[in-house]
Amino acid sequence: MKDNFQICSRCIYDSRVPNISFDEEGVCNYCHQVTGLEETFKTGTPEGEAELQKIFAQIKEESKNKKYDCIVGVSGGTDSSYLLIKALEWGLRPLAVHYDNTWNSAIATENIRKVTSTLNVDLYTYVVDNKEADDIFRSFLLAGVPEFDASTDLGFVQTLRKAAAKYNVKYILEGHSFREEGVSPIGKNYFDGMYVKSIHDKYGKVKMKTYPLMTFFQFMKWTLFYRQKYIRPLWYINYTKADAKKVLKEKTGWEDYGGHHLENRSAAYVHTLYLPHKFKMDMRNLALAALARTGGMPREEALLKYNSPIEEPEGLEEYVKKRLNISDEEYVKIMNGPQRSFRDFKTYKKRFERLRPMFYLLAKVNIIPRSFYLKYCFPIK
Ligand SMILES: [Zn+2]
Repeated sequence: MKDNFQICSRCIYDSRVPNISFDEEGVCNYCHQVTGLEETFKTGTPEGEAELQKIFAQIKEESKNKKYDCIVGVSGGTDSSYLLIKALEWGLRPLAVHYDNTWNSAIATENIRKVTSTLNVDLYTYVVDNKEADDIFRSFLLAGVPEFDASTDLGFVQTLRKAAAKYNVKYILEGHSFREEGVSPIGKNYFDGMYVKSIHDKYGKVKMKTYPLMTFFQFMKWTLFYRQKYIRPLWYINYTKADAKKVLKEKTGWEDYGGHHLENRSAAYVHTLYLPHKFKMDMRNLALAALARTGGMPREEALLKYNSPIEEPEGLEEYVKKRLNISDEEYVKIMNGPQRSFRDFKTYKKRFERLRPMFYLLAKVNIIPRSFYLKYCFPIK
């Protein structure tokens, strides 16, 4: 380790985290970012709750004669499943929407079914053609970039927005919690529609027909013309994953899949095998740092966990190779091959930066998520 190696005195982020800095008390900028968000959203305070209720009142007022008043994206994971329970408690009429990238674990699929049927919420699922999905995954491996699962994240968002347009709903609720999931370091996980397209154009073999690709034009259409709004209710309320899991199990028979991101095979592959092996990246620090910050886990224990080996799901690497039709030889070449990034491919990044003032205003009125503005509209060092 270098002499200036430092670990944040509050969470477990250290000097290896991109763009990290420490104050005189040794607290990192990411901890300050979380504190800043808590202040902005008055998280877990009566004022925060009141703010959220104001938003809900507006949603209800605007959606009186509609069958649904909001969209809740579901993955079978903890946050989104719990959000669905809360949405009903808040008196909303949600439509659950799921993007199926065909790599779901059996538990995730069962969870989605259990939660929506117990709560009696309608479910809209969009399933991409599996050959097409696999061709995109394969392209990302051949490209040698870290964002193997980017097509899922982007496809998920596009599916939510399409469903919102189809059912004439303006509000999309997202089960994200900055307290529990942390703030991801800027520049580690970049994706946009042009990025997915340019990598697939270069390395793909199967024509893109069913994959819900979100282009810049569509993004603007959803935000400016359809006026779709993204709301993250968990940013306002006291929320812990541990409590949410308890409630979910009791109320719906929801089952724990054993770890963050492990509900889906492509996400599990990125976190436990691809990133650690090819990029020496261990993303567990994101959730562990968040737990240390909130006191969900003692900092010492979080550090210990971070320094223990990553558990690799049995047979997952073989599954990926077989499914993506990659030989052992080819796989070794990919893993030892060049480490590329979004900078090596066409993206919308420069365009987002040029339009920063416009996105600032759109974030201010909640039309685009604030995290989009912070993450996409500034140059990355
Ligand atoms: Zn910190």
